[in-house]
Amino acid sequence: MNHKISQDDEHTCCRRTFLKGAVGCGAYVMWALSGAPLGMRRAFAGEAAGEPVAKEAFARVEQVAENAWAVISTPEGGYVTVSNGGIIAGDDAVLAIEGYMSPKGGEWLREVAKELTGRTPTHLALTHFHGDHIAGTKGILGEDGAVTIAVTKTVHDALPDALKAEGGATEFMMLDDSAPTELDLGGRTVRLTPRQGHTPSDLAIELVDPKVVWCGDLLWNGMFPNYMDALPSTLSIQCRELLGDNGGVYIPGHGPIGDKQSNQRYLEMLDFVGDAARMAHEKGTPPVEAAKDFAIPASLGEWNLFQPKFFQTAFEAWSRELSV
Ligand SMILES: [Zn+2]
Repeated sequence: MNHKISQDDEHTCCRRTFLKGAVGCGAYVMWALSGAPLGMRRAFAGEAAGEPVAKEAFARVEQVAENAWAVISTPEGGYVTVSNGGIIAGDDAVLAIEGYMSPKGGEWLREVAKELTGRTPTHLALTHFHGDHIAGTKGILGEDGAVTIAVTKTVHDALPDALKAEGGATEFMMLDDSAPTELDLGGRTVRLTPRQGHTPSDLAIELVDPKVVWCGDLLWNGMFPNYMDALPSTLSIQCRELLGDNGGVYIPGHGPIGDKQSNQRYLEMLDFVGDAARMAHEKGTPPVEAAKDFAIPASLGEWNLFQPKFFQTAFEAWSRELSV
């Protein structure tokens, strides 16, 4: 399903969406962390599941399966990668996951892929349009740009025009918004499933065997999620579907790789927020007021919250949905 973008695709590119995306989760995360004590920042970065195969101040790389690695961003290193991501290598192709926050982050990922697999990425998949997941895409493409980018139309629209120049070496695999697309990397199958919830257009990227899922920002670990573009009830439903029987490795968009327990607590935490927001809405309490009185019980885990406004953003998202 590879094809070059058409003239129409180019004309519908929405610059405003990209700019909006550029101040998405990345700015949110970094703003949050800038005021946080060092201990809290370290807690956000978490512990590696094993010995990292590559490590910088801004990210570490953990092997999650044979020829498959997760990038876990550790924001102490600044605005370089910011989001999590990964690399999956097959006999014929190397898939990079996420475009990261800066071209420097993208270039680093390209080099890591070369070191680990002997090849630079041939494919790239982007989970959603927020800047911390796409703004460094150019760095991954390299000088010749010869990479196939798998995206939904919404994410394609958000990419800068420079990446979509007619006649360039970069190709786009436009994903069906209503059904999964399978990508054969040569002995490795990756399933790209369009979803919604964190934004109106999210993508889950699943290595089928063994099961490893890059969840994008549908899943967070150790940090309260960003609801700025969320569809809250959809988020809860889609996360449950995404985690399924919780039997696999699930890589969050931000924070360290969790386990069954932390994933389950995340679902319960989303529901807890939803219940509180519904109650506030029924009483006519404005989101700003409802957020002031809100707290997550310790039984639902530790969710680092650096500014009270992040609860407000969640309540506002719920309020938008419940007011329709
Ligand atoms: Zn993000």
